[in-house]
Amino acid sequence: MRAAPAPPATIGIHTMKTVLIPTKLDKVAAQMLAAKGYQVIQDSDTDLMALCKDHPETEALIVRSEKITPAIMDLLPNLRTVVRAGAGYNTIDIKYARRKGIDVMNTPGANSNAVAEEVFAMMLAVSRHLIPADIDTRAGGWSKKKFMGHEITGRTLGIVGLGNIGQLVAKHAQGFDMKLLGYDPIVSKTKADEMGVQLVSLQELFAQSDIITLHIPENKETLGLVNASLLALVKKDCVLINCARSGIVNEDDLKAAKAEKGLLYCNDVYPADVPGPKSIADAAAIMLPHLGANTYEANFAAAKRAGEQLIGYFEQGITKFVVNKDIPDGLDPLYQKLAYQLARLARALLGRQSAINAIRCSYYGDLKPFAKWFIAPIAAGLADNSDPHQAPEEAAELLKEKGTLLEVRDADDKKHYGNSMTIDLENGTSRVSLRGTITENNLIVSRIDDFDHIYLVPKGNLMIVKYLDRPGVLAAITTSCANAGLNIEDMHAPRDSAARSALAILYLDKPAPAALLAEVKAKIQAESAVAIELA
Ligand code: NAD
Repeated sequence: MRAAPAPPATIGIHTMKTVLIPTKLDKVAAQMLAAKGYQVIQDSDTDLMALCKDHPETEALIVRSEKITPAIMDLLPNLRTVVRAGAGYNTIDIKYARRKGIDVMNTPGANSNAVAEEVFAMMLAVSRHLIPADIDTRAGGWSKKKFMGHEITGRTLGIVGLGNIGQLVAKHAQGFDMKLLGYDPIVSKTKADEMGVQLVSLQELFAQSDIITLHIPENKETLGLVNASLLALVKKDCVLINCARSGIVNEDDLKAAKAEKGLLYCNDVYPADVPGPKSIADAAAIMLPHLGANTYEANFAAAKRAGEQLIGYFEQGITKFVVNKDIPDGLDPLYQKLAYQLARLARALLGRQSAINAIRCSYYGDLKPFAKWFIAPIAAGLADNSDPHQAPEEAAELLKEKGTLLEVRDADDKKHYGNSMTIDLENGTSRVSLRGTITENNLIVSRIDDFDHIYLVPKGNLMIVKYLDRPGVLAAITTSCANAGLNIEDMHAPRDSAARSALAILYLDKPAPAALLAEVKAKIQAESAVAIELA
């Protein structure tokens, strides 16, 4: 009897990873994953909890707008990632996921065009009264006067949020010769110019636009952003389109603006995607059941992207689309490491004997919008037990609890410091100020107090000695190091000639022991001598 043929060899690390797709997503994702050897369960009928209980081996979830709560995540001990086939991810508890080491990804851009087109569908429909005119005409009416409309050509369109969707809206609006205003704190003027968008303040945008469209995420900062004070600025009969998230707009203030200004509100989003009466109906000129991404094309594109991203994640470790890392898009994480190293070095230079009562930072160039993302690394640089990856808000709270003032100064870009940051620490009696940047992917300390242009790599075992500049001091320091059995790998000796002050910065092969620091300090009457190990 011939032996049965051996089963085909399974290749790669993805062997039989279970992917659960508890939603009506285009089948392309399941097909791609199955073709790669993943075990895929796609079931949109079974209750999500029950499905998770049945498949505790699940390592990845692909969802659309299903709520992924801590309870769901707790049912799946092997869960490594949740992929949201779509852009918004406020249905997923990303903080809890982070705490459990679960990466949450979205597929930004996959459904952007569907949303951008919906914006124009709404804009045209509301400007020409299409919906009431249709109802009226079907009922036998012929109300041309009543339905006199506006053209959108030549009107001013204000786009709040110039990400994937906002940019496509801008692109399509060019076809209607609209004047484009935009507000997005991380978009540069150059980028806005390329899009034909004039960047203005949020207040100016609300005051000058005929039509305003929102394309920002819902988060702590944007919750209730569109409130009475902004709505007080809008023109009479202004159109406001919300295809972003419901919480961005204050519903009561919206109702007041409708009554006072005839605001026309076009809405696609609700606190929950459920049938039943909607309170927003009183305020809305048009309301749709969250149809933004509801096109066959977008469903296919999002499913395909989810499948591709999941394969990339498991097989090549690609985390580009992870939204709950600890950094926002557009910020090179090396700058967070720089903030951490500067804080550690500054702390060492200031001495650990007294508490830090103030941290004052300046961020230059492209780093300005990311100020809050440096709080956790700085806090961690000051206190060994602080997590550099914690949420900015938590890190800020921690500093506050310790009585440490955190000030972000208004940085003057005329100084041409490029993308750099300055971190000053104060302890009530003394201050240390460091500036750093990144060159060729290397962290660089460019200034320590008044010692400028020093270009020091903050890495390894450093010994830093500050002393009154005079001949023979460096020789005395290096002799002490040699006597202590330490090899000097590199050395910088910047001088501040005005103050007759000098620094000896030595890179050693081993950490400088306290006895060596004390000896050097005494021998040359140094102002300070500190050692620090920087990873
Ligand atoms: P995106 O991340 O590409 O862009 C969001 C932009 O908003 C970014 O450029 C960001 O800098 C900017 N931003 C953040 N906070 C801001 C603020 N306070 N003021 C001004 N700008 C701010 O996201 P996207 O793909 O363009 O999607 C935007 C939003 O649209 C999503 O967050 C999602 O909630 C919503 N959305 C809705 C539907 C729908 O079906 N209606 C579909 C997809 C996305």
